[in-house]
Amino acid sequence: MTVASASAAPGARTNDMTPGTIRTIQLLLAGVLLFGVAVVTVASQVVEPTLLALGLTTTVVATAVALLVPWRQLPHWVAAIIPAMDAIAVGLLREASPSAGLGLLWSFPTIWAVWAFGLPGAIVSVVAVSAAYWTLGFVGTSALDADLALIFPATIAVLAGVTYVIRRRTHAQSDLLQHQAVALRRATRRAQRQEALVTDVLDAVDFGVVGFDDTGAMAISNDAHHRLQEVRDAAGDAVYAADGYTRLAPHEEPTARALDGETFEGALVWYGDPGSPDRTAVLATARADVGGSAAGGRIMVTRDVTDELLALRSREDLVDSVSHELRTPLTSILGYLELAADDDLPESTRRSLAVAERNAERLLALVTDVLAASATSRMGLDLRIEPAVAELSEPVLAAVEAAQVRAHARHVSIDASGVEPTVAVIDAPRIQQVADNLIGNAIKYGREGGRIEVGCTADGDHAWVVVRDDGPGIAAVDLPHVFDRFFRSDGVRKSSTHGSGLGLAISRDIVRAHGGEITVRSEPSGGPTFVVRLPLPTDEGSTR
Ligand code: ADP
Repeated sequence: MTVASASAAPGARTNDMTPGTIRTIQLLLAGVLLFGVAVVTVASQVVEPTLLALGLTTTVVATAVALLVPWRQLPHWVAAIIPAMDAIAVGLLREASPSAGLGLLWSFPTIWAVWAFGLPGAIVSVVAVSAAYWTLGFVGTSALDADLALIFPATIAVLAGVTYVIRRRTHAQSDLLQHQAVALRRATRRAQRQEALVTDVLDAVDFGVVGFDDTGAMAISNDAHHRLQEVRDAAGDAVYAADGYTRLAPHEEPTARALDGETFEGALVWYGDPGSPDRTAVLATARADVGGSAAGGRIMVTRDVTDELLALRSREDLVDSVSHELRTPLTSILGYLELAADDDLPESTRRSLAVAERNAERLLALVTDVLAASATSRMGLDLRIEPAVAELSEPVLAAVEAAQVRAHARHVSIDASGVEPTVAVIDAPRIQQVADNLIGNAIKYGREGGRIEVGCTADGDHAWVVVRDDGPGIAAVDLPHVFDRFFRSDGVRKSSTHGSGLGLAISRDIVRAHGGEITVRSEPSGGPTFVVRLPLPTDEGSTR
């Protein structure tokens, strides 16, 4: 059915009397009439053979008209000619054999007319049949029976009424079905349009999207996914973890993990052997239990990040080699400065050499930071941490001790009364590096003449190091970034305080390599508090 006919108003229904219906009804009626004729002929009840022949001819003509006329091209009402001819045929047959009761067959054209034309059809057919019944009763071969004079027309009227009611019900149901069919078709078309739109959008983006239903079958995928899948297939079993060197077992691959119902974010894999020119890095993120009512579905988004990683790596290579190249001459400069300072020199020259040495040392510290940061970012973390059960207070107190000269220069006091004897699992020199950085920052960025509190302790689960100062603190917008590489707050960058923005990033890498974490909070009323969490020894000697 086309859209136009489907959305036609119920009143404009065109299928009441389709050509097919007209022909079927007429064939049935013709069959009944011929059967009646056969019965009365066999029973020798025919009194007027001419009328019988006429009735038969009318029936045959009506049937031929019903079969041959192209009803679709004619107005609807033209079909009324068929029940009219049938009614005439019944009248003629009834006159041909008055005692056979063929008048009952008038009920068929009546039903026909009511079904095709509704109330007008009912009124016209009841009036016409009753008039024919009464008229033929007076002028025809069959005498009018006094008992039936009213009952017969009444029966025809009841029949017409019942047919009319059934017709209305049927039409109401058909209207309802038509409306529902139209609504369903519209909804289907809308869903198809949306599906096409989603497919177009998915195919236009450069990240792969693949969805699996709860049985693990692929339910949705886009072009980018198929491209990345080809790369993965070409790699065979040369699939490596984020470090680019550790091979992944099939069940550790992102697709297998997503199918297992795992949820993960930013899993990096390399397809292709190290050194291969077609090596591709793919970042995958998966969510389980997606799909609303079809919960149990999984979706995975993948992205080719090879170019980004290679660009990052080249930048690190550059930083690496520049820092390396700077370190050697710097160390030599420092050595010669120290030698020169040992000579017998005028006081002004000695002061100049001291300034040069201080700055060369600062430059060396910067270069060392940059090298360390570059190494940690390259390897994930290759800080060669060797944790052992050790006294945590020792490296912390050593850092306090080492910072005293700088603290004194800014009239800052360091309160280390909170440093308690604490046994933890640490790489002591690395932890001292962290404490050095935190206390150094507190001196650099804290208040001149201020106070720094340093402490370490343990609770039942972890060991803790805390460094707090009473300086201006860290602005709320900067707090989430202080551990980012090369981050320095706006105020600090504009000031004369030197730094590389790498100290806290390196400290965090060190603490995380211990299996711990470093956090900071800063209240507007006071300076920041840095808290380092470290593992405690367990009974078996391992870490907690
Ligand atoms: P650097 O000190 O070399 O700049 P860090 O990584 O150690 O690098 O610190 C990053 C930034 O965090 C600093 O530049 C500073 O803006 C901020 N910061 C760190 N410690 C403090 C502190 N105690 N008080 C205020 N700001 C701080």
